Parts: sequence; structure tokens; C-alpha cells
Amino acid sequence: MRSTPELLSRPYAAELAERLMRYAKIETASDHHVEAIPSTQCQWDLARLLVEELKGLGLAEVTLDEHCYLIARVPAAPGCEGAPAIGLMAHLDTSSDVSGKDVRPRLIRGYDGGPVELGHGYVLDPSQDNPDLAAKAGDSIVVSDGSTLLGGDDKAGIAEIMAALRHLLAHPELPRGPLEIVFTPDEETGKGMNLFPQGKLSAAACYTLDGSRTGEVEAECFNARTVKARFTGRSIHIGYARGKLANAVSMAASFVSMLPRSEAPESTDGWFGYYCAHEISGSLDSAEVTVFLRDFKAEGMERRVEALRALAKAVEAQFPLGSVELEVNKSYSNMREKLDERPEVLERALEAARLAGAEPYVKPIRGGTDGARLTEMGIPTPNIFTGAYNYHSRFEWVSVSDMVLATETIIELVGLWAKAK
Ligand SMILES: [Zn+2]
Repeated sequence: MRSTPELLSRPYAAELAERLMRYAKIETASDHHVEAIPSTQCQWDLARLLVEELKGLGLAEVTLDEHCYLIARVPAAPGCEGAPAIGLMAHLDTSSDVSGKDVRPRLIRGYDGGPVELGHGYVLDPSQDNPDLAAKAGDSIVVSDGSTLLGGDDKAGIAEIMAALRHLLAHPELPRGPLEIVFTPDEETGKGMNLFPQGKLSAAACYTLDGSRTGEVEAECFNARTVKARFTGRSIHIGYARGKLANAVSMAASFVSMLPRSEAPESTDGWFGYYCAHEISGSLDSAEVTVFLRDFKAEGMERRVEALRALAKAVEAQFPLGSVELEVNKSYSNMREKLDERPEVLERALEAARLAGAEPYVKPIRGGTDGARLTEMGIPTPNIFTGAYNYHSRFEWVSVSDMVLATETIIELVGLWAKAK
């Protein structure tokens, strides 16, 4: 492991903190109630600034399309023209869970390892749910003033890509194949990939800079299905219902009560999937239950769907006058299978993190990611750490030394691909 003072003395340490704080001040909250992409006009402000900065780095091919997708093409360094192109991706928007307006980022140099008074009555306490922060004594960290989120998700990722790119362009002697820099809107709304101009990318692989803890590389997410269970009862005057009524409300309740409690979201973590009864509505005559199914394994997902079919049959057995129908819809798929077809994509990310001096490990994402969607579209896209913590919260904090490690991971990764056949 490299020491914190050594990391903070790297040439891009000050640049990274400066970029993060400058980008964080620009409001880019997205809005999941809005169907249009971008969902909010403010995302253009950061996109346009980045267009100028990328052009300022000497790039000729920088395009911002009508839906706020920014793609910049970086030519290979001399001698590396034959190397495969890779993409580096981060998202422009911030979560709407906490206000992202008038963000006032603060850089704390020589952090003492103790509680941080953010302001507005909020304290970031390493002893409470922030074990990683306790280990950051001596580091420089960036926090908000407590009234907003910081937006390190994903402006830390943007800052790292920009700093790595500036460094690589200033050092043409470093191995560098062609790069495609991609900044996308509306990741937080889950719609960010809907209008993605996939045809404009020629990258053999892409990496999102949108992970958290140092060393973390995410190559796996849930398989997700949404199941609608429709219960058809038989209603009749309830004063004369004996032997004649099938109550759809009771059928739905019976179905929900049979979902395994030990496999609910609140009783699982790590690599375990779940059943989550998410919505219920109905009356005597008919009722509907929405169940979210999550599982890392395709077979596990099949098993869960089969289990719901068996429960539906069990409900029909209890209510002979009623019937149950299931509609199963795919939401997103685990990217691991597609990544396993191209093992070098993940291996190079881990090797690059190791070369940078981080201790890489693979961690599952208990949700979906834009990278998973891009992987499904045919460009394998694992997710790399950024050094930003406590996402979507006013307690967000970013470690500058972790940002240095992420930036050097990018530089090493570019080098590994440039040397690839
Ligand atoms: Zn993010």
C-alpha cells in the first residue's frame, strides 16, 4: 500500500480536488418524474463546461448530442495506433434524494480522523457507519456544508477521467491507444441508457468510474425481474357467501404471506438475492401484487420464478373458485456472463488497480448500472472505484488520496490496453 503523503504529493492531487469542487458547485440533479432525457436542463451546464475543457485539452472530436450525451474521441499516442479503443464513462447527474442546489464543497487538508462538523447541525462521524473514514487520518477529504449532497457521485469519476486524460495528453510517451470519453445524463433516474448513441462508440470495452471504496471493482449486478401476480376472485353478496365467494384480497394476502421472509431485501446482503412484494392493490373481485425478484445467478432467477408459480398454484388450491395469473418481465441482467466471455476486460481493471497501488477486489452491485446496460448492448463495462463515499447523502465525502489511486488506475488501464494485441 502506498502512503497517504506519497499519494497526496502526486501531481494530480491538487487538480483532482479542484476539479471535483468546481464540478460539484454546478447543479446537475436529475428528476425521475420526467420522461425526457435529459430530465433536467441544469445537466447541460456541466456538459457544456466539459465540452470546452475537452476541446481545451486539444481534442478535435467532441460531440454533445441533443439528449446531452457527450462523447469525445482521443487519438492514440504515437506508436499505439493499432491498439483497441476503450471507453471511460461517468455520469453528469446527481441523485434527487437530497438537494444538489448551491453545493458548497469544502476541502479539509490534514483530516484528523475525528468527527467532522459539516454545518447546518450535521456531523460526519467516523464511529457511526463510516469505518473507512476513520482510516483516513492525514488525508485530504472533500465534504459538503451539510445542507446538500456533495455530488462526488459521480463528479469524482468525472474529475478522475479528466485529470487522467490531461496527464496522458501531456505525456505522449505513455502508452495510450484510442480512447472514447463518455459523459451521460440521467444515470440516477435509471433511464440514462435509453437513448444512448451506442453506434457512435467503437470501444472494445468500457469502464465506468462510478464505484466507491478504494480497490472496489464491480463486474456483477443482479438479474432483475418484475412479476405481476393477478388474482381473480369470485365476488358475491358477503352475507350469503358461504361456499360461493373467492376473495381476491385474501388470495393476494395469502400469496404475499408465503414469500420466504428469510429471502426478503431486509434479511439479505452480499451475494444473496431476494423476493420483494413491492405493491399491492385490489378488492373482492380482483387484486394485483407486484413482486421484484433479484438474483445474481440466472438459474437462481429461474428458481425464483418457479417458486412464484408454485405459490400461485398453492393459492388456487386454497381458493378453488379463484384463479391466479403471473406476468414475468425482465428489468435488467447480470453483466457477469457477458463479461466472462471477455475475461481480459475485468482482469485488466484489477491489474491496473494493482499497478496503481490499490488492493483491488470484486464486489457485486445490489442493483443495476448503466455499465450493465452497455454490457448487454455488447460493450463489456465493469465499474471502478472513485474514492467517493456515502452516495446520495449530505454525508457524502471524497478522499483525495483515493482519487489519486483511481486516476492512476485509469492511466495504468490505458497502458495495459495499449500494449494488448
Ligand atoms: Zn453514480
